[in-house]
Amino acid sequence: MNKRLTVIVAGFLLIFIPAFGTAWEGSWGKLVYDTEVSSQTKENFQKAIDAVDKLFTKYKIVLSNPITMVVAGNDAESYIRALMVYAHVSRAVAEDAVKRITMGQSDPKQSLVIIRYTPTRQLTSQGTSYLVNNPEEGFFALPHEVWHQVKNQYSRVSAVNWLQEGPPELFKFMALETAGIRRVTDSVQLAEQSIRRAAEIPDTRQLASYDYKTWQSLAQQKYPVYYMAALMTYRLVGDNGFEKVILFYQLLHNGSDPDKAFITAFGVQMSDFLADMNDYFNKLHR
Ligand SMILES: [Zn+2]
Repeated sequence: MNKRLTVIVAGFLLIFIPAFGTAWEGSWGKLVYDTEVSSQTKENFQKAIDAVDKLFTKYKIVLSNPITMVVAGNDAESYIRALMVYAHVSRAVAEDAVKRITMGQSDPKQSLVIIRYTPTRQLTSQGTSYLVNNPEEGFFALPHEVWHQVKNQYSRVSAVNWLQEGPPELFKFMALETAGIRRVTDSVQLAEQSIRRAAEIPDTRQLASYDYKTWQSLAQQKYPVYYMAALMTYRLVGDNGFEKVILFYQLLHNGSDPDKAFITAFGVQMSDFLADMNDYFNKLHR
């Protein structure tokens, strides 16, 4: 084969080799990888999927729109490709988005979760690093983002910030336990440690805003808001009471007043609960 023909053939092959392949498909969704994702990482993500699948069965979660979960490779170009193929955006929009996104994103309108996979590296004393297998890598973003999708399919009515972000975090803790990686109570202890170590913590009422910008600004100021929201949700429903969260979503969906829905679902007034949680956090943080 002459050189020029080889180049042309190679070019065609590149066009026809799909960049993404489906690895798992179930009733509630499918998992797609960039072909450059390693088999070890795929195994780790499959553990997260299996755990989520078990929890969906346990809590009888039924989704009307199956979720497409895309795991992009460890480079900006792979994430840009994923956005273009699955979120149907232009290259310019994807290139802009990739600058802001660290772990992934969830688009309820398209039932789409895109995860920006980052391999775990171990630092050496010489200041270099090497790749290590991290059995938790599939759990960093996937269960959290999947729970946002569940929430949005049950109800499009927004809850206050900590109730938007707390259940996805607790769901992640539950998925880690279901996979046999770490018990919920141990995840709770780790979250408590992070709060003890935090320079400052906000008042829980600051987490009870409907304005998501307030939440983002607190997170950017390095307040441990995700840990706080996880612990608040844990205090509310324990590690085995997610049907209460689902009931809350259903009440919101049916047009119930949010404060009334909160009392009905969780058996406590939100203002009282926030005051109790302030006491709890202040004791931890003292
Ligand atoms: Zn979130």
